[in-house]
Amino acid sequence: ASGLLKGKRGLIFGVANNRSIAYGIAKAARAQGAEIALTYQGEALKKRVEPLAAELGGHIVGHCDVTDPATIDAVFAETEKLFGSIDFLIHCIAFSDKDELDGRYVDTTADNFTKSMFISCYSFTALAQRAEKLMPNGGSLVTLTYYGAEKWMPHYNVMGVAKAALEASVRYLAADLGPKNIRVNAISAGPIKTLAASGIGDFRYILKWNELNSPLRRTVTTDEVGDAGVYLISDLSRGVTGEVQHVDAGYHIVGMKHPDAPDL
Ligand code: NAD
Repeated sequence: ASGLLKGKRGLIFGVANNRSIAYGIAKAARAQGAEIALTYQGEALKKRVEPLAAELGGHIVGHCDVTDPATIDAVFAETEKLFGSIDFLIHCIAFSDKDELDGRYVDTTADNFTKSMFISCYSFTALAQRAEKLMPNGGSLVTLTYYGAEKWMPHYNVMGVAKAALEASVRYLAADLGPKNIRVNAISAGPIKTLAASGIGDFRYILKWNELNSPLRRTVTTDEVGDAGVYLISDLSRGVTGEVQHVDAGYHIVGMKHPDAPDL
């Protein structure tokens, strides 16, 4: 299929480099004919994101650090100037102090709890508040989550708690915005080696475990997450909201290690 997103315009948060999940979604959305606007977090990432936007034929609407609401307002003002209205918004933003993505959850500090929850969960709601105003004809909001929201995972710690809150917020936002035909969904991606993931303790072990034990016997790529993103943005999913769509090679259905799977 091609041209599934023809005539649709969207704003994408969270491209850091070409391994970012946001980049995979941006690329897949462009391939289906969407017009896209990207943001970057800080000057260091600007240098990386600019060439990626050019390569994809997308726009850049400026610096956005979700801890600074003025920068959120600025990128929405820029997007309104550029597009008038938007049809989709992609939120691929998460943060926790690296020191606490190792060891025990019980040792989480109040400071890092608050910061992780604000950046990884509340920011989606902050963006939804602004997106609502730019979606007079309805639209689709998509965030990224992980299985650590549902089950304990080694070292995921406060991020698992933040993702659980993020998934709950998907349901509350979906109910609030449904009457305006704005749909709100999450993609629960399997582990992928990105900048953010490199901060998680024993990440290589987690990747390998998923590869050996998922029903498809492999991990997923950002291109595959991108194509699932296209579905959630497109009219193909017009009857779907409040959903957490797993794109994880089926890992979330597994109850225990398959007897045939090799030991790690
Ligand atoms: P990434 O490092 O490429 O992207 C993370 C992004 O978050 C970066 O672009 C960074 O600039 C942005 N960010 C962090 N703090 C921010 C702030 N204060 N303001 C604005 N932006 C901020 O890594 P990724 O793996 O592509 O992460 C994207 C999303 O996917 C995250 O929500 C992550 O939790 C989720 N996810 C990742 C995996 C995985 O294994 N990589 C699996 C499931 C879900």
